[in-house]
Amino acid sequence: MEQKEDKLKEVISHAKEYGFVFPSSEIYDGLAATYDYGQLGAELKNNIKSYWWKSMVQMHENIVGLDASIFMHPTTWKASGHVDAFNDPLIDNKDSKKRYRADVLIEEHIEKIRQKIEKEVEKGIKKFGDSFDEAQFRATNTNVLRNMEKITSIEDRMRVSLENNDLEGVYQLIMDCEIVCPISGSRNWTEVRQFNLMFSTELGSVAGDAATIYLRPETAQGIFVNFLNVQKSGRMKIPFGIAQIGKAFRNEIVARQFIFRMREFEQMEMQFFCRPGDEMKWYSYWKETRENWHKKLGLGDKNYRFHDHIKLAHYANAACDIEFNFPMGFKELEGIHSRTDFDLKQHEQFSGKKLQYFDPELNQNYVPFVVETSVGLDRMFLSVLSSSHKIELLEDGSERVVLRIPPALAPYKVAIMPLTKKDGLPEKAREIIDSLKFDFLCQYDEKDSIGKRYRRQDAIGTPYSVTVDHQTLEDNTVTIRDRDTMEQIRINIADLYRMIDEKSNMRSLLA
Ligand code: ATP
Repeated sequence: MEQKEDKLKEVISHAKEYGFVFPSSEIYDGLAATYDYGQLGAELKNNIKSYWWKSMVQMHENIVGLDASIFMHPTTWKASGHVDAFNDPLIDNKDSKKRYRADVLIEEHIEKIRQKIEKEVEKGIKKFGDSFDEAQFRATNTNVLRNMEKITSIEDRMRVSLENNDLEGVYQLIMDCEIVCPISGSRNWTEVRQFNLMFSTELGSVAGDAATIYLRPETAQGIFVNFLNVQKSGRMKIPFGIAQIGKAFRNEIVARQFIFRMREFEQMEMQFFCRPGDEMKWYSYWKETRENWHKKLGLGDKNYRFHDHIKLAHYANAACDIEFNFPMGFKELEGIHSRTDFDLKQHEQFSGKKLQYFDPELNQNYVPFVVETSVGLDRMFLSVLSSSHKIELLEDGSERVVLRIPPALAPYKVAIMPLTKKDGLPEKAREIIDSLKFDFLCQYDEKDSIGKRYRRQDAIGTPYSVTVDHQTLEDNTVTIRDRDTMEQIRINIADLYRMIDEKSNMRSLLA
């Protein structure tokens, strides 16, 4: 556990030192759970967005983009259910005065039991070696079975309590599981209360309820209210999708863990409109497609797992999360939800306008069903940053810190370094940058020894470093060094474009 916390701390300080992420308004000591993306963070973020947008919109003929406003008519949030039901159950510990999400406390308790099971399995692997039959072991070992039963029973109680808004039941479950506050270690809990997560503000100069508007807590509703606009103007045929990247705001009860849980964050969402009855087919399709999208990045297949929701949101008939192995453990990275026709029907009812599609093949009108994929851009950023941050021991006994960011996402694609600051080498280096800068973000670096400059590029994840020396002036060749293998080869300047492009373009991720 301590090791994991250390890892997160390392990532946070690296992110700050090299200009990826800063605490927001730091000169005023920061603002809780808000962060600013620095010069390199902004590049990485843009590249993640671009990977998502290209794969969702550009690679799918039947998906188009949208950029809706953050402010929406207040009735939107009545219709969507957010005014009445976008709540989290919160609980306070009377000794530490710390506030928690009751459901998260229980989920973490379940995770601990799950880890006990995994330990038991690991013991079995060690004991029986190659002859170990894991499936058989899981199905018969008494300790495993007892813990599985525990998990099922806790999950069932939690689901029933939350579905019935039975807050006393949630409290009782926390007491029965003997869950303690991680800070004070005590079980001195308050009752469980509901807390609405939407931020509100006032529009114009008129005070009072009528003018209260909300900062959108999800981007999805901007897509639903524009469903017919896009379908008609784009002559879209079902099934089709609308994708959007944008800010969302939630007054999170517990906003900790760096950019994992913020009060202002960015979502990349896609709503896929399909025929009623086809939604489960598309739900499976999008689960698989999104899993592949993540795994293509090469951050390690073992770092992903699916988690089916035990309590379905009021609008869903199936839902799961893709979880990532963050420094704090496996946590939600993306949600995939089958939202039925709930949202469109609600908006029909509240607006009095028809939101239906005429299906020429069936010769009938209907309200489409929706499958949604929703991934947090900031959580994607943290997954990339934390899993690519490595401290490596080199052959000569020294250490290097390297960000093995997938090259297509790396902020700079290449650094160009004149060996010395004289003899026309800087000019030659700038000439090379001028020929590459239309296609790649390049960095010019002439300060310190070449070794130090390589380390700096490793630390910000630049896939290639190119050194310009005296020989370059004679025969137009340069030394190019690979971030990951640290191998250096001499190539012609004319071959630079092809090499950098092959390694860092997005085509290989999208193919
Ligand atoms: P959690 O259970 O962690 O609160 P959620 O289930 O409420 O998340 P969704 O409503 O499904 O999240 O939102 C879709 C995605 O938006 C999440 O998978 C996550 O990546 C991102 N997200 C949600 N809340 C936050 C937040 N406070 N900070 C950063 N990203 C967030």
